[in-house]
Formats: sequence, C-alpha cells, structure tokens
Amino acid sequence: MPPRKFPSRRSSAQSARYAKRRRNRLAKVDNDLTDAQWHALMDAWGGCAYCQGQGAALQRDCVMPVSRGGRYTLGNVVPACASCNASKHNAEVTGWLRRKKLDERAFLERHAVILRELGAHQD
Ligand SMILES: [Zn+2]
Repeated sequence: MPPRKFPSRRSSAQSARYAKRRRNRLAKVDNDLTDAQWHALMDAWGGCAYCQGQGAALQRDCVMPVSRGGRYTLGNVVPACASCNASKHNAEVTGWLRRKKLDERAFLERHAVILRELGAHQD
C-alpha cells in the first residue's frame, strides 16, 4: 500500500461532521436565560408579549422556536400567555402574528427596544 500523502488533514466530510456536532451541542444549551433576566423580561413587557394579556401565568416562549435553531437566551425569550404559547408552538413568529391578526410590527419594535434596554444581543 502506498503511504498516505496527508495523514493529518481532515477531509471536508469530516469537517462537516465536526460542524454538525458543534451545532448539535449548541442546540442543547437551554439554560442561558437566568431567573433575573426572565423577571426583567416580564417587567419590561408587562404581560404577554404577543397579545398583551395580563394576569395569566406567563410562560417562556422562544421567539425563534428551538426547532428552528432558537435558544433560551435573553435575546430570544419573551413572556407569553399559555394561549399564545400553545398557538404559536413551532411557527415562525411574524407569519404567526399575521395569521393571528396581531400587530407584528409593534411586537418587533417593542422587542428591539426592550432588548436594547436590557442590554441583550438579539440572536
Ligand atoms: Zn398572549
């Protein structure tokens, strides 16, 4: 057998495998949002981020769903009432807001303002 020319060089298939493994590892991180950040988010929104509903127990909703690569971070979590959270589920947020006849633009603008106030990086 001839000696291998580049024994230490990674093939592109290997590189792709490593990249995929790294993405999978990142996707499993679900505890970036601290309790303090969560309370700051609830204070800032003052109710459900989508329908402004108040009083009901608010749940952590990922604006970009986890199934689409979103994570539980300050920049991606908003408080949502149980009804909005269940309805939105894995939907892409702007399309879902439009279907629900909610104010998509008001949500996006308020989200950006709140994240700036809380010093978050939107991701
Ligand atoms: Zn709601």
